[in-house]
Amino acid sequence: MRTLLIAGNWKMNAGPTEAKELADGMVAARQGKDDSSDILICPPFISIPAVAESFSGSHLKVGAQNVHTEDNGAFTGETSTSMLNDTGCEYVIVGHSERREYFHEDDALIAQKAKKVLTDDLKVIVCVGEKLEDRKSGNHENIVRTQVKAVLDHVDANNADNFVIAYEPVWAIGTGETATPEQAQEMHQFIRSLLADAWGEDEAEKIRILYGGSMKPANAEELLSQTDVDGGLIGGASLKAESFSDIIDIAE
Ligand code: PEP
Repeated sequence: MRTLLIAGNWKMNAGPTEAKELADGMVAARQGKDDSSDILICPPFISIPAVAESFSGSHLKVGAQNVHTEDNGAFTGETSTSMLNDTGCEYVIVGHSERREYFHEDDALIAQKAKKVLTDDLKVIVCVGEKLEDRKSGNHENIVRTQVKAVLDHVDANNADNFVIAYEPVWAIGTGETATPEQAQEMHQFIRSLLADAWGEDEAEKIRILYGGSMKPANAEELLSQTDVDGGLIGGASLKAESFSDIIDIAE
C-alpha cells in the first residue's frame, strides 16, 4: 500500500508574510484530522522558514521547488541541499516543466539534481510530462520514457523510498485542462513499468507517482481513485487553504 502524497507547489507566489498566513490556514484546516496521506507544501525559497515555523508540531511538511547541484560557492542566486536541510525541508521538486521551459533545464541537469537531493537525504519529486504537440502526435510515451530513464540512469534502487515521480502533462498545467482519469492511469502505469524495468517489480510498486495538472476539488476524486495515481502535485488550488484541504479530504 502506497501512502498518498498531496503536494502543493506555490511557484513564485507568497512572500514570507503571506506564506505564514496561508500556512497557518492550512494547519487550522487540518487540525484534529487524522490524515493518513503525506501533506507537503513547496513555497518559494524565501518563504520556506515561515512555512516551516507554521507547520512545526503539525503533520504538514515543507519542501522546495528547485535546488542547485553544488554544496556552496560562486553560484549567484542559487540554493543548495545543505541549506534546505537546515530549514527543515523534507522534499525537493526537480524538473518542473516551468524549469525545463523557462530556465532551459535539460534531462542531464535534472538527473544530477535528483541524485544530489537523494545523496543529501532529502526526498525528490521528479516532474515529467509531454507537451500538447507530443500528445497530439502520439509521441507522449516516448517523451516521458526519455525523461524518466535519464533520471533512473543516475539513481539506484536503494533510493526508492525517497523517490517520487510527478506526471504533469504540460498542456494541463495552469490551463484548467486536465488529463482524463484514463489518460492519467495509462501514463502512470507506463511510468511504473519503466520503474519495474530499472529496479524490479517490488521496488516499482513502492514508488509514488503523483498526477499534476489543474487538479482541484472538482476533479480530484476521479484522478486519485486511479490505481497508479498516488497523490497530486497541485499548483493553483494549493494557494487557497480551503481548496487544498478539500483535496486532502478527498484523498482521505
Ligand atoms: C504545477 O505547478 O505543478 C501544477 C500542476 O499547477 P496547476 O495545478 O495550477 O495546473
